[in-house]
Amino acid sequence: MALRSDWSQRSCAMARGLDILGDPWSMLVLREVFFGNGRFDAMKNRLMVADSVLTKRLAGLVDAGLLERKPYDDGGRTRQEYVLTEKGEDALPVLNAVVIWAEKHLPAPSEQAHMFVIHTTCGQRTTSADSCTACGERLTAENTSWHSLTRTPEPVRLATAPAPSRDAFSQNGPAA
Ligand SMILES: [Zn+2]
Repeated sequence: MALRSDWSQRSCAMARGLDILGDPWSMLVLREVFFGNGRFDAMKNRLMVADSVLTKRLAGLVDAGLLERKPYDDGGRTRQEYVLTEKGEDALPVLNAVVIWAEKHLPAPSEQAHMFVIHTTCGQRTTSADSCTACGERLTAENTSWHSLTRTPEPVRLATAPAPSRDAFSQNGPAA
């Protein structure tokens, strides 16, 4: 992603990862897609961001293989929405960790300005990014909800990569 100097070839994996996941707008775009909010206008309204900024981040995340475009019917007109790939879905623990760390260490500007990571299966809030601190189960996009108190009264189940992408992964990846 050409948002700053290119770190994609750095010898340190953290630097290579931050080349993609170190950009605040890109992370917030991923947040929206995990919330199931993958359409351009809806993302733009939620993020209150300029078209050019959003367009650049979406293109960067598609190029990096974390998002893909999927056509949908908008009242007879075909438009594109953005959905997670398996690679994008795998970024979930990173996003969870940012939320959990911020809730632990950063003051909230208002009583409602909180976001919690919930293990949907047991219904408990977790303070670990990749497994449920209440029951120990590994967290995946399928079994995780986020509860942003300023956004919705109830936790929202997260979006997952669509089936074809998951199938492609299970054929090439480790045995499912
Ligand atoms: Zn649990």
